[in-house]
Amino acid sequence: MPNILVLGGTIEATRLVAALAAAGLPATLSYAGRVERPKPQPVPVRIGGFGGAQGLAAYLRDNKITHLVDATHPFAATISANAVQAAEHAGTPFLALTRPPWTAREGDQWTRVPDIPAAVAALDGPRKNIMLALGRMHLAAFGHHPQHRYLLRLVDPPQTPPPLPDHHIIIDRGPFDADADAALMQAHDITLIVAKNAGGTGAQAKLVAARRLGIPVLMIDRPPLPDRAQVHDIAAVLDWITA
Ligand code: NAP
Repeated sequence: MPNILVLGGTIEATRLVAALAAAGLPATLSYAGRVERPKPQPVPVRIGGFGGAQGLAAYLRDNKITHLVDATHPFAATISANAVQAAEHAGTPFLALTRPPWTAREGDQWTRVPDIPAAVAALDGPRKNIMLALGRMHLAAFGHHPQHRYLLRLVDPPQTPPPLPDHHIIIDRGPFDADADAALMQAHDITLIVAKNAGGTGAQAKLVAARRLGIPVLMIDRPPLPDRAQVHDIAAVLDWITA
C-alpha cells in the first residue's frame, strides 16, 4: 500500500488530497503553518517545517513514505529545492505537481520583472492606486514607496500593521471571481496591479479583470527551481502512484 506525503498550501494540493482520499490512497498533507485557519481536509494533516532538506529526508524515512509529491506554490522555492534533495537522500520516489505560468494575451498590459526587489524598484514615481496581490510576506519591501495607495488582499488579518501609510486591507481567500475582482478594482480606482506569476486558476481572476478594465500589471517572474519530474494534472499524479 502506498503512503504518500503531499507538500501543500495550494488549491492544487487540496484537490490532489481529495482525489487521493476518494481513490482510497493513504496520504498526509503537509502545511508550513502560515495560514491561521486551514480548511478541514479528508486526509491527516501535519503542520510546520521539517528542519531543512535533512529534516524532510528523516521524515520520509521515519514515516516510511513511499511517494513524495511537491504541490507547493511556485514561489515557495526553498521547500521545493529541499524536496528534491530530501527525496534523493531518502531514496523516495518524487513528483512535482505544478501549474504552467500565466502568459500575456491580447489586451494585457504586462511589465515583467524578475523578482520582488525589481517590482519595488519599478514603483518609483508618482502616486498610484496599487492592488498588491502578493500575500503578507513581502509587504514590508513596499514601504520604500509610501507615496502610493495600496489595496492588500490577505488570507488572515496581519498581526502587525503593514508599513504602508496609505493602505486598505481585504481579508479573503481564493479562488476568486473575475466579475468580483473587476468590481473591487473599480471601487478602489486601481491604476496598477502587482502580481506574482503563480499560474493556475485560483488567482487568475485579477488578470482577467485587469484585461477587461485596461489596467496595467507588474508581473513578477517565478524564482528558479531545480530540474525535477513534474506533471500539471492530478490524474497524472494518480497514474504515477498506481503504476
Ligand atoms: P518557502 O520559502 O519555500 O519555505 C520556507 C520554509 O517553510 C521551508 O524551508 C520549510 O521549512 C517550510 N515549508 C514550506 N512549505 C512547507 C510545507 N508545505 N510543509 C512543511 N513545511 C513547509 O515557502 P513560502 O514561500 O514561505 O511558502 C510557505 C507555504 O505557503 C508553502 O507551503 C506554499 O505552498 C504556500 N504558499 C506560498 C505562496 C507564495 O507566494 N510563496 C503563495 C501561496 C501559498 P523547513 O526548512 O523547516 O522544512
